[in-house]
Amino acid sequence: MTQAAVESTKQKQEEYLLKVRGLKKYFDISEGLLKRKKQYLRAVDGVDFFVKEGETLGIVGESGCGKSTTGNLIMQLLEKTDGEIVFDGVDLSTLPKEELRKKRAEIQMIFQDPYSSLNPRMRVFDIIAEPLLTHRVAKGKELEGRVYELMDVVGLDRTYAKRYPHEFSGGQRQRIGIARAIALKPKLVICDEPVSALDVSIQSQILNLMAKLQKEFNLTFIFIAHGLPAVKHISDRIAVMYLGKIVEITTKDNLFEQPLHPYTEGLLSAVPIPDPNLRDKKNRIIIEGDLPSPANPPSGCRFHPRCPYAQHTCKTDVPELKEVKPEHYVACHFPLEDGHGVLYEN
Ligand code: SF4
Repeated sequence: MTQAAVESTKQKQEEYLLKVRGLKKYFDISEGLLKRKKQYLRAVDGVDFFVKEGETLGIVGESGCGKSTTGNLIMQLLEKTDGEIVFDGVDLSTLPKEELRKKRAEIQMIFQDPYSSLNPRMRVFDIIAEPLLTHRVAKGKELEGRVYELMDVVGLDRTYAKRYPHEFSGGQRQRIGIARAIALKPKLVICDEPVSALDVSIQSQILNLMAKLQKEFNLTFIFIAHGLPAVKHISDRIAVMYLGKIVEITTKDNLFEQPLHPYTEGLLSAVPIPDPNLRDKKNRIIIEGDLPSPANPPSGCRFHPRCPYAQHTCKTDVPELKEVKPEHYVACHFPLEDGHGVLYEN
């Protein structure tokens, strides 16, 4: 890389709110009492990405690809095995406990199942008030005002304040979860499949609410989902994960119009197309087989046993994530050619 390119990359990275570099999480799954033969499940295995302030980065991939573990690592709910998580200019792992607790308030999470993430024995008022009290942000009348304001913002009637989570529908419970997540005015919100447990009709209401709140509070989102349709409307850029690694990351338009990684092409092929005319033109790539175990990933390119374009090199050499086109990074020895991508109805 030339000095100018290094400088430009450095400058670009400095604008980011979150920088994740070489992130790894290995779970020890060694068997036996003495655990003599070490065995690890490599849930996240060297992940790099950056998130700009105010943008939404979608992260997609099949169950077990490491996307939720990545979210939990950023949230500091799990301890990383290796790598760096730099948030707002600070490497979180270098912070003393109290400093980390304060910084963590700026990163919040919205969970997939709003019911299990809300304490069933607490009333809505107390659920939303809890983070404000824990971080000593407000008390008394001011606290009351803040909680009611948050209920207004997420579209919950103030008269619901004394109710318990089981008295609400799934969509309303997710609104409570969102109110709680934004209570401390975070900079970054990690949304772990926030609408996948909801009815389709409710999903768009929650997505619209999240988009509204993003503008209003200048929030930055990481939106985790297992399918591309779920991240299509809300994301600015999308990262595709496969077996603990990012295989492609680019803008939403690039990804949907010109996917460069065969796995992304397969994910797009799996998206149903309602228009029969477009359906005929679509170059369908079926991904055969199951996701291999992250405890014993395939050599070389981890996707090679399922890739229709695999060649000998793919079995031996690990492809690095490289910028193949402007803002379009792909980890593949033979990225798809122009025009090779599938047709996708916008
Ligand atoms: Fe397929 Fe080879 Fe690219 Fe892997 S590196 S995705 S096996 S073509």
